Amino acid sequence: MHNLTMSRHNGSELHILCSSGHLFLQPLWDRLRTWEALIQSPFFPVVFSITTYVGFCLPFVVLDIICPWVPALRRYKIHPDFSPSVRQLLPCLGLTLYHHVVFIFPMTLLHWVASRAPLPPEAPELLQVARHVVFCLLLFDAEFFVWHVLHHKVPWLYRSFHKMHHQNSSSFALATQYVSVWELFSLGFFDMVNVLLLRCHPLTVLIFHVVNIWLSVEDHSGYDFPWSTHRLVPFGWYGGVAHHDMHHSQFNCNFAPYFTHWDRILGTLQSAHAK
Ligand SMILES: [Zn+2]
Ligand SMILES: [Zn+2]
Repeated sequence: MHNLTMSRHNGSELHILCSSGHLFLQPLWDRLRTWEALIQSPFFPVVFSITTYVGFCLPFVVLDIICPWVPALRRYKIHPDFSPSVRQLLPCLGLTLYHHVVFIFPMTLLHWVASRAPLPPEAPELLQVARHVVFCLLLFDAEFFVWHVLHHKVPWLYRSFHKMHHQNSSSFALATQYVSVWELFSLGFFDMVNVLLLRCHPLTVLIFHVVNIWLSVEDHSGYDFPWSTHRLVPFGWYGGVAHHDMHHSQFNCNFAPYFTHWDRILGTLQSAHAK
C-alpha cells in the first residue's frame, strides 16, 4: 500500500516535472517558430551546420594562435609543441565549405522538396529532449564504431575512404571534418537516421546536432581542459578528446568517437589516463 502510494506520488512528481519541462521549453520554441520561414528554408540546415561548426572551431583556432605567447595554455595541450600551420588550417576549412556547398546543400534541398511538414506548435518536454539526445548519441556512437572498425580492418576501405581523416596525426579543431565524401555521407546518414527512428521533435533535432558537432570538434581540438566532457561524465564512460587523440596517433585503438563501452567490450580501449 505504502509502495503504491509512493509510486503514485513519484508518478505525479514525474508528471509535474515533465509538464514543467514542457512549459520550460515552450517560450523558446514559440520564439523559434516566429522564424519558421527561415528554419524551414532549404538554406537553413547548411547555414546552421556550417556556422555551428566554424563557431565551435574558432575558439580553438584562436587558442592555437595565441598558445606560443601564453605558456599556461600548453599544460592543457595534448601535444604541447604542436600548433597547426596556416597550410594545415586552410585546406581543412576549404574542404568543409566545399562539402557543404557541393554535397550537403543538394541533399538538404532534396529533403526540403520531398517533405515540408509545418513545425508543431507544442515544444517537447525537457526530459524527453534529454532522453532523445542521449539515445541519439549512443546510437551514433555504436554506428560509427562499426563503420570505423571496418574502415581500419579492411585495407581497401581504409585507403579509399578513411586515410584522409588520418592525414593529421596530431589533430586540431578544423581537422574534425577533414574527411572523404564517403565518410561525410556515412556520418551524415548516422546523424539523420537516429532522429528519424526516434521521431525526435524538431527542437530536439537541432539540439542533438549542436551537441554532436560540439563533441566531434572537442574530440579533435587537441585540448584537454578540466571541463572537457570526458572529465564531466563519471566512471570513464566517455573517452572524448584524450581517447580520440590516441586513435589518431596509434590507429589501432579507441574506435568509438565518444563513449568507451564498445572499445572495452572488443578489447580495443586504450586508456589515455594511463599514458
Ligand atoms: Zn580512424
Ligand atoms: Zn578523428
